[in-house]
Amino acid sequence: MGETPLPPLKAEPALASRLVVHPIDDQLRDEARRFRLVFACPDCASFDADRDRCSLGYPNADHRDPSLEGRRELVFCKAFELA
Ligand code: SF4
Repeated sequence: MGETPLPPLKAEPALASRLVVHPIDDQLRDEARRFRLVFACPDCASFDADRDRCSLGYPNADHRDPSLEGRRELVFCKAFELA
């Protein structure tokens, strides 16, 4: 059985840089593991785990998944603050 194809990118690279959408590659996955990078809602000071939502009221569907596996891009939240 072959690998599952990755979903298409949401934005072209030039536009993606303005939208804080970052392509995910093996280097990023490796550096995220080595340096324990965090960027998603569960590690953000504004995440309300009890209500499973952003306490600032931001839509967070694109920011909730802390995994970099099986994804081609990462959408950063400009309001992320390390918990
Ligand atoms: S500020 Fe951004 S990263 Fe933090 S909980 Fe809200 S949507 Fe998620």
